[in-house]
Amino acid sequence: MADQNKSTPTHADSPALSRREFAAVSGVAGAALVGGMAACLAGNTPAAAEESSGQAAAGKPEAMQGGITDGSYTGTAQGRNGQLDVTLSVEGGAITSIEISRSSDTPGMVEAVAERLPGLVVRSQSLNYDAITGATITSAAFTAAAADALAQAGFDLESLKNAEFASLEYEDPVGTEADVIVIGAGGAGMVAALTAAATGKSVIILEKMPMIGGNTMISGGGMAAPGNWLQQEEGIEDSLELYAQDTLDGGDNLADPALVDILASNALDAATWLRDAYGVPWSGRLAFFGGHSVKRSLVPEGESGAAITSALETACRAAGIAIYTDMRATTPVLDPRGLSMRSVLCTRADGQEFEFSGGAFVLATGGFGSNLGLRMEYDSTLDENVHSTCSVGSTGDGIHMANYISALLTGMEYIQTYPTCDPVTGALYYLYDMRLYDRGLLVNKEGLRFAGELSRRDILSQAILEQTDSCAWLLWDGAGVKETGLLETHAGEYAQGSANGVIVSADSLAEVAAAASIDAEALEKTVEHWNQMADAGEDRDFGYRSTMHRIDTPPYYLGRCAPSVHHTMGGVAITPTGNMQSLDGTPFFNLFAAGEVTGGIHGSNRLGSNAIADMAVFGRVAGESAAAFVPGSGY
Ligand code: ADP
Repeated sequence: MADQNKSTPTHADSPALSRREFAAVSGVAGAALVGGMAACLAGNTPAAAEESSGQAAAGKPEAMQGGITDGSYTGTAQGRNGQLDVTLSVEGGAITSIEISRSSDTPGMVEAVAERLPGLVVRSQSLNYDAITGATITSAAFTAAAADALAQAGFDLESLKNAEFASLEYEDPVGTEADVIVIGAGGAGMVAALTAAATGKSVIILEKMPMIGGNTMISGGGMAAPGNWLQQEEGIEDSLELYAQDTLDGGDNLADPALVDILASNALDAATWLRDAYGVPWSGRLAFFGGHSVKRSLVPEGESGAAITSALETACRAAGIAIYTDMRATTPVLDPRGLSMRSVLCTRADGQEFEFSGGAFVLATGGFGSNLGLRMEYDSTLDENVHSTCSVGSTGDGIHMANYISALLTGMEYIQTYPTCDPVTGALYYLYDMRLYDRGLLVNKEGLRFAGELSRRDILSQAILEQTDSCAWLLWDGAGVKETGLLETHAGEYAQGSANGVIVSADSLAEVAAAASIDAEALEKTVEHWNQMADAGEDRDFGYRSTMHRIDTPPYYLGRCAPSVHHTMGGVAITPTGNMQSLDGTPFFNLFAAGEVTGGIHGSNRLGSNAIADMAVFGRVAGESAAAFVPGSGY
């Protein structure tokens, strides 16, 4: 336990049990946490902005302790997506409270930092600690902003940074047994957990990261849903058969048709369920992802999967589902007779071991795009020179666990790159979704188009890699900005891309081309030709598959892009009821899987917006099967 004597009253005990865990284990809904965060983030006001300019926020200093002046201070630093402010109080020369008062970083990452680091700083009265895994940029911004505020208060930063190293502390789980144990708190895991809990089963979710949401959280959140309400409003004809066929074709007919059939038949129902049962805020606009014959993909408000995962997390809290973060599942323990799982061994972030037992288990650990060794085992071209868009938690732990119990894998060699990512960091710039809303043209260094902008991801990735410098530029204009609002929704990306020279803008095509160092004359000709074809409504060069809009409204923008590893299509083989299988194809009785850890649903290539459909549909399948399993049955 912490040396409580060192702590000040305000946050003395918060690191021992995160607010998230407290909410889960005490059965309190996430309201307190959400309310707390809302209160923190409510600081994002002009008043907070004034405070962030470096003045003591709460009026006159109250007392002086050595060189330290009591009072309230706000410090500022650059976060992942813009400014991050920290506001803290100093009383009697000690830090008594500290909070993040402004941040536009991904909410799940801000929460993970806000739940842990403020309490740690107050308890240890230092700035010497590790970053929160998976939120390193937000952690660094928190520390820099805290240092800014503490410098204003007169603290000696060097001694704060050189103080004794402070570690996070964790409260032990309240229970280690449940009807259903879910491994992984991404989209699939939470959907499976909610589905099982809805039948009255007790459920525990184990999550290795400090934050909840996985790759689903950092995705754009698009979900294919054939026959949806927006299609009906827009008069777009669609069918389950067409969607299934697109999915099969998109994966070179290497997917399991029975699984694709389940995906197609249940995607719309799952999207409606997410909306009606959990309040997932689908926006009023459809996106047209590559490989789909018609526009059929719903997108959450803000084009962020975080809208889905935060709705699911809130629902899990409300349903009394315990979610233990920082708890990495390592080893499945089988019944000596095989085919049935008894428990799973876990290692918490502080190294302590736990064993969780259950009636049924759902493996929902996501993909392996962030595991260089594993991905190169299956595709040696995806070496360290290829960035990844995936969350740091996508390391294929589920694959290792599956191998450990000799479970069947399928399609492991199918690894997808996303064509239009930031060439510097590898991040997927959702700003570049301008392309998916019919507002972006792809050109090369020579100023020429080279592929259909709405082609399949694998085809487009390959085409980009074949261009000069193995990259391309996405061109859009002021009309695209106005129509899509993407520059506002993804202002952080725009700021970052502009700062590192990846995105440039200018009032004429010649100027923007010069800023991007691409052929200006050729770009002007390319756009003139495009505009003529747009007027005629036909792309004679690359068969553009959606509405063609003229590009003629300044300012013009060019964003450099290159492919990054994005999704691993292969994984554990499942039956139509979500059962994992042994090497000879026999299903495990009580072990199910869902989401990116599975294989067989997308063949060699996953279509855009099919991952969210996959996790929602098969998360429900696995949750239903796990809840229906009668312990002891099977043999
Ligand atoms: P999906 O879309 O299939 O749900 P995600 O990437 O969204 O995939 O979620 C997978 C989750 O599983 C992530 O939050 C990840 O951190 C978590 N995870 C991965 N490996 C483990 C593990 N060994 N133990 C617990 N959680 C894990």
